Amino acid sequence: MADQQLLDKIKAFEGREYGRVYAWDPVNAPMIRHWCEMMGITNPLYTDREFAREAGYPDIVAPPAMLQVWCMAGLDMENYPPGSTDENSFEVLKLIESHGFESVVAVNSDLKFDRYVAAGERLYYTSRVDAVTEEKATGLGTGHFVTVIMTYSVERAEGREDEKVGEQLFRVFKFKPAVRPKPETGTDSAIPKITRPRPGISDDSRFFWEGCEAGKLLVQRCADCQTLRHPPAPVCAKCHSFNWDTVEASGKGHLYSFVVMHYPEIPPFEYPNPVGLVELDEGVRLIAGLVGADRSELQIGQRLQVEFARFQDEELTLPQFRPVAQ
Ligand code: ZN
Repeated sequence: MADQQLLDKIKAFEGREYGRVYAWDPVNAPMIRHWCEMMGITNPLYTDREFAREAGYPDIVAPPAMLQVWCMAGLDMENYPPGSTDENSFEVLKLIESHGFESVVAVNSDLKFDRYVAAGERLYYTSRVDAVTEEKATGLGTGHFVTVIMTYSVERAEGREDEKVGEQLFRVFKFKPAVRPKPETGTDSAIPKITRPRPGISDDSRFFWEGCEAGKLLVQRCADCQTLRHPPAPVCAKCHSFNWDTVEASGKGHLYSFVVMHYPEIPPFEYPNPVGLVELDEGVRLIAGLVGADRSELQIGQRLQVEFARFQDEELTLPQFRPVAQ
């Protein structure tokens, strides 16, 4: 049953405007260069001042998709430059949450650009709550969609009007998660059992999965230059040879990196679900599930040993790694 009182209160936020949030730094070459490096963008308009000037711009310009970057708080949340508003344009979410809609998910974001911004220009944005919907039922649960639009402008010197350069729409869904019935276990269950995704097996990778079935961790090796490679591939990246064979790895290695999956919980996996990037003693890395350690015990660099988990009814054998004493 939708709560009319809550709806009246949150609807009152529609159209509310929030003050400026300034950029810490003017648009600048180092940030643009780092961003382009990360994204793999090589357009000289973003990095070569002479090129940008010949193209008619006062200096290098920033990739339009960087618009949001300039006014970000930095590593610490809510750490905005002096002069910025201390209001929160998403404050309506707190009100919705106080009525039991505790979960939140970002739904979509649209960026619009009026023009390039050039090195030296300083940006700020102002926000407006565009829409707060009535209660909606979705696959995730029931809740309210909140849409906020940030308008980005370039600050001008005294006496000149600031210029709008773009807009960002941001929509979130604040909801009560749907309660899903627990799937029944047992042979008489009518609900089909959800199985693990099958590995994609090709002529290049079949040996790996057959090795797992046989309890062996096999690694591809270039038959010409002896370089090991994983994941399997048709060509040696070092000498470009198509010839390869395999070697059985010791199954020993160390934890190079890891993530612990918490949400969304996808059957049939158990959560929290730790997944490791494991560097084998032979030098190649592979991704595999971690068993026998909870999150607080996982340490980068810790020693691991492979074991093979047989999922009988799924006809699937997967390598997993278990911590071993140092
Ligand atoms: Zn080779």
